[in-house]
Amino acid sequence: MSVASPDVVIVGAGMAGGALGTVLARAGVNVLMLERTRVHKDVVRGEWIAPWGVIEAQRLGVYEDYIGAGGHHLRRHINYDELVPRAESEAATIDMPAMLDGSRGPLCLGHPTMCNLLNATAERAGARLARGVGRLIVRTGSPPSVEYAHDGSTHTVTPRLVVGADGRNGVVARQIGCELNQDPEHHLFSGMLIDGAHDWPEDLQIVAVEGDVNVLAFPQGNGKVRIYMGFASEQRTRLLGPEGPKHFLDAWRLECVPHAEVIANANPISPCITYPNSDAWIDDPVRDGVVLIGDAAGRNDPITGQGQSITHRDVRLVRDALLGNDEWSPVIFEDYVTERRERMRRLRTVARMTAIRESEFTAAGRQRRLEIHERIRANPMFAAPFAAAFMGPDAIPAECFADEFIAQIMGGPIW
Ligand SMILES: Cc1cc2nc3c(=O)[nH]c(=O)nc-3n(C[C@H](O)[C@H](O)[C@H](O)COP(=O)(O)OP(=O)(O)OC[C@H]3O[C@@H](n4cnc5c(N)ncnc54)[C@H](O)[C@@H]3O)c2cc1C
Repeated sequence: MSVASPDVVIVGAGMAGGALGTVLARAGVNVLMLERTRVHKDVVRGEWIAPWGVIEAQRLGVYEDYIGAGGHHLRRHINYDELVPRAESEAATIDMPAMLDGSRGPLCLGHPTMCNLLNATAERAGARLARGVGRLIVRTGSPPSVEYAHDGSTHTVTPRLVVGADGRNGVVARQIGCELNQDPEHHLFSGMLIDGAHDWPEDLQIVAVEGDVNVLAFPQGNGKVRIYMGFASEQRTRLLGPEGPKHFLDAWRLECVPHAEVIANANPISPCITYPNSDAWIDDPVRDGVVLIGDAAGRNDPITGQGQSITHRDVRLVRDALLGNDEWSPVIFEDYVTERRERMRRLRTVARMTAIRESEFTAAGRQRRLEIHERIRANPMFAAPFAAAFMGPDAIPAECFADEFIAQIMGGPIW
């Protein structure tokens, strides 16, 4: 069956697809979004947008929508560590709104809520959304084509452009021949949403390392907190099975975090899902008639929570390329591709440094962490690459990402 061909077909109506669908439809572009699922479920994705991502959301014009849907700003960040006196950690509390002018600090909003919201804003602006699509085949060309099954029929459309926004493990990248480069797994990373943590300060996010875990907490408001936990790959079965959520909460019975029991005693309200921590990237996410955005174009290691900020930047750059050019040939995405490649290179470096510092639980790993803390105390400039996770990879001088500089901080090469 032939469906009237839109200007743009977006495959995947998650965060990336929904945001691009919204901003293009608001600009008068005829958009069709194709989404595999019928309902956006909690599959443990990011729910914390870094300050630099908040600025991107503002530039896209979706920030007020996020606030209207319950977006919750955080003001304080503390790094706790069993190797650092608690008073020293707390004296180094980061004032998050001060990190980046105008950001008001990081923003938390549930991933399914955000996807539903962006689907609704896109539809309200005139985009069409088909849910429950299957057997999708994307072909490059001028024009490209998309074949898909929906409501019992097979459809083919030939838009001016196809956008692959189908997330990690998406099919579009493979179908158009984009090779995914991937680092080996460094450790494991689990996430879960909890409720009933009313005594946890609502404006405070923390990262802590103690024993054999690296834990992170991001309050979502009203007693809900998204928690994550990094642990060694050798403990692959640690959170498996029906007792997994309980073991996750028990890992929060920590000495170095004040009031950690508030989290340990809270109630899980989402699945507990574990991912391998690694970075994966595509050098050139553009083909004739097709461009990839968000996780479909390569995903940063989630340890530093950059995916949503990356995605908002992708959406802005692709939107600007489309609205700023009448001809939609691959050449209009050159700035996007070049900027993204360097952005992902820097963020991969930051994630690797963070994984080494916070998620190596051997005696040697602890010793290395201790030495990194000492070097940063002696030379505060050594904290700069880590700050990129809050301020954005381009807010930090390029020389801070040079191999020699990184090796000085980390006590040797990181790759
Ligand atoms: C454990 C973990 C923690 C994270 N924490 C953070 C964090 O704190 N902060 C942060 O910024 N980022 C974080 N991230 C990363 C962030 O969640 C992602 O970068 C972000 O969700 C990417 O958005 P996306 O739209 O590209 O992909 P997704 O959100 O995965 O959306 C892809 C959409 O495409 C649909 N789809 C897939 N295949 C098809 C198909 N064949 N046809 C049609 N539709 C399809 C899916 O159903 C989905 O709706 C985390 C990731 C993980 C795994």
